[in-house]
Amino acid sequence: MDKKRVVILGAGFAGLLLAKKLKNSAYDITLIDQYNFHQFQPLFYQVATARLEPSSISFPLRKIFQRRKNVHVRIGKIKSVDTAAQKVITEECTFPYDYLVVATGCTSNFFGNKNIEKYAFPMKSTTEAITLRNRLLLNFEDALDCSESELEGIMNIVVAGGGATGVELAGALAEMKKNVLPRDYPDMDFSKLNVYLLEGGPVTLAPMSKESQQKSQEYLEKLGVKVWTDALIQDYDGKVVSLKDGQTIRTNNLIWAAGIIGNVPDGIPKEVLVRGNRIKVDQYNRVEGTTNIFALGDIAYMETPEFPRGHAQLANVANNQAANLAKNMERMLDNRELKPFVYKSPGTMATVGKRKAVVDLSWIKFQGFFAWLVWMFLHLMLILSAKNKLIIFINWAISYFTNDTTLRLILLPTRKQIELAREHHRLDSGDAQTA
Ligand SMILES: Cc1cc2nc3c(=O)[nH]c(=O)nc-3n(C[C@H](O)[C@H](O)[C@H](O)COP(=O)(O)OP(=O)(O)OC[C@H]3O[C@@H](n4cnc5c(N)ncnc54)[C@H](O)[C@@H]3O)c2cc1C
Repeated sequence: MDKKRVVILGAGFAGLLLAKKLKNSAYDITLIDQYNFHQFQPLFYQVATARLEPSSISFPLRKIFQRRKNVHVRIGKIKSVDTAAQKVITEECTFPYDYLVVATGCTSNFFGNKNIEKYAFPMKSTTEAITLRNRLLLNFEDALDCSESELEGIMNIVVAGGGATGVELAGALAEMKKNVLPRDYPDMDFSKLNVYLLEGGPVTLAPMSKESQQKSQEYLEKLGVKVWTDALIQDYDGKVVSLKDGQTIRTNNLIWAAGIIGNVPDGIPKEVLVRGNRIKVDQYNRVEGTTNIFALGDIAYMETPEFPRGHAQLANVANNQAANLAKNMERMLDNRELKPFVYKSPGTMATVGKRKAVVDLSWIKFQGFFAWLVWMFLHLMLILSAKNKLIIFINWAISYFTNDTTLRLILLPTRKQIELAREHHRLDSGDAQTA
């Protein structure tokens, strides 16, 4: 009872690492997430394109903390925070805290467009990646017996957003078109299938070097992806994407990777929220104007002389902030001086397809086969658990040699599953209305 209570909101990269680092400390930790597993977001696109099973990129939280008496895992949707009473409120419970750490990451930003939110397919959670996989597989089943007039909408797949997620997904879809779909559906003509990548700005992979931007676009175009830059999407009614310049594309499949916005729990003071709904923190990740609330990872906005517009929203930043805060929390126990967060970017990378990737390090930039090996090696290193590393490696090796996978299962929820989800408050408000 005399231990200080730390409540961590979110078991993503930052929240999970902080809890792991503090697992033998003198703090009493409560880790709350809406899912009972940690998700490895960089490989969502491989789940969506049926290259990896969701279980190989997801890790049950209770397994991670099985024998830790000072870490309590709680599954629930965080509703709000009462900073005056020092309590976190979820759908079911209230959790008192001495220190609060907000690490709730981001969700898709539809920029206020309700139509796009309703009809497009986002990819910001494992469940959304599975939904997208089902959508794509059902789409091709529909193609077999649709009318000529419906075919165009089915055969156009539009990916919105030319960041790393959009580029990687568009490349994977183009490889599916080339290697997998003609074998699964020998009666269909996949020359009619078009993969579009629409980017609102002038270039894809905007934060990367010119060489990487050009090379990745060249790779995509070689794979047959139609890359449109300066293509701002204005609306989508489930059948037609309308662009600001008046152009339209018929599609039943708009995949949304065009922006993210912070998941800020109600109760966090509005004055500390900045662009992208991020929480302004000082160099110790402490929320401005507070003494016992911290924010980490994608949700945190920290201005430093090296990063005057805040850090990039990347897993590596989230991990490094969590590691620094863990050390500072140990220092706080014996009133030692805290150390500010200092970030040295190791570089950025993206893959476009088999043997095709681009890597920007501070001292060298390279593209092609070696970049692809580096990309695979680093992602394997980042994945939790030796078993998952091995499963992913085996899957990648099989698809390298066969250009195929055996994971194309359409698994849809049953009525009972939906009722169960509702009973346990596991439907988000949008899903609850339609279920
Ligand atoms: C498709 C995709 C690809 C990416 N690829 C890369 C990459 O290649 N390299 C890279 O460095 N970064 C990549 N990123 C970004 C990277 O995943 C994020 O920077 C990182 O996940 C941020 O970590 P975080 O801990 O701040 O938040 P997250 O990892 O997003 O974790 C937030 C957690 O909070 C939980 N949560 C949120 N709201 C609530 C609520 N109300 N109640 C309960 N729980 C809640 C969520 O379930 C989640 O578990 C990618 C992101 C996506 C979406």
